[in-house]
Amino acid sequence: MIDKFCRECGTRIEMKELEHEGIVPYCPTCGQYRFPQYNVAVSMIVVNEEKDEILLIQQYGRPSYILVAGYVSRGEGLEDAVIREVKEETGLTVSHMKFNRTQFFEKSDTLMCNFTAFVANTEGFDPNYEIDSCRWFSREGARANIRPNSLAEYFLDAYLEDIVGPVPTRLRFGFRDIRPEEAERAAEIEQIVFPPNEAVLPDDVKKQAAVAPDLFMVAIDKVNGQVVGFLNGLATNETEFRDEFFTDKSLHEPEGSTVMLLGLDVLPEYQRRGLGTEIMRHYCQREKAKGRKRIVLTCLPGLVEMYKKMGFTDLGMSRSTWGGESWHEMEILL
Ligand SMILES: [Zn+2]
Repeated sequence: MIDKFCRECGTRIEMKELEHEGIVPYCPTCGQYRFPQYNVAVSMIVVNEEKDEILLIQQYGRPSYILVAGYVSRGEGLEDAVIREVKEETGLTVSHMKFNRTQFFEKSDTLMCNFTAFVANTEGFDPNYEIDSCRWFSREGARANIRPNSLAEYFLDAYLEDIVGPVPTRLRFGFRDIRPEEAERAAEIEQIVFPPNEAVLPDDVKKQAAVAPDLFMVAIDKVNGQVVGFLNGLATNETEFRDEFFTDKSLHEPEGSTVMLLGLDVLPEYQRRGLGTEIMRHYCQREKAKGRKRIVLTCLPGLVEMYKKMGFTDLGMSRSTWGGESWHEMEILL
């Protein structure tokens, strides 16, 4: 948060150029630059070294689990705050610690600094009034119980990734319907993933997201919250693929028994780790649950084997001439 008034004298803050720093808040009365102030807090992955278990807590009457955390006092170092907060909230004694990650939390104007705080054992364990309840979890248990899409989850993932290697694809990525504000990004991804003759035009991707968001599944990287891929399609009672599905969204029949897939996109830096297969698996499961009977896609000859591995059957050449190329038509029965 940038103050409107000088914290020393109350004069209205101006913006002034400072060499090497750019435009910085400035109090003309004090003649001093007033760099923005914000809160600093520490959060801790408390690990019992004896059992390799992680402590998660429940707080403020909410059912999901988070990490022990607290604000850093003025004049205090981060390491001191880690030791003090763990002691105050849990009674445990930190034997050593390791810096993990930081992230700025806009909502509370706080720089959150995460550490792994090791305790030798549970001696002195006595959670205080700030904690509703708490539990020791295995690594997998902690991953399964941490509050989804939280800063705590981000820190825990980073910790686990550092000690046990990359988080498996099925845990690292979340899958859900596209949100309106993500349509622009999806349109960009389409242009990145496909050559110009094959890419669906940005406007058609955006229309697709608006017309059938429930058939437009995005993959979110939970580590950075970004859309990194998607799978989209239109529902229809027609049986064969035709290129008009790419451009004419009036063909969408929400109750149609077949989904015509229009694109499976995974950003290049996320390819070759099974993410495409994982999106397809979630998508098929979900459409089956909705009562759809069949999913159809078209692909270039070189990708037929890949889609066979995902469970699709090759129906031979499609009538599609999208991008001036020849396409195989494939289907999976749900
Ligand atoms: Zn002032």
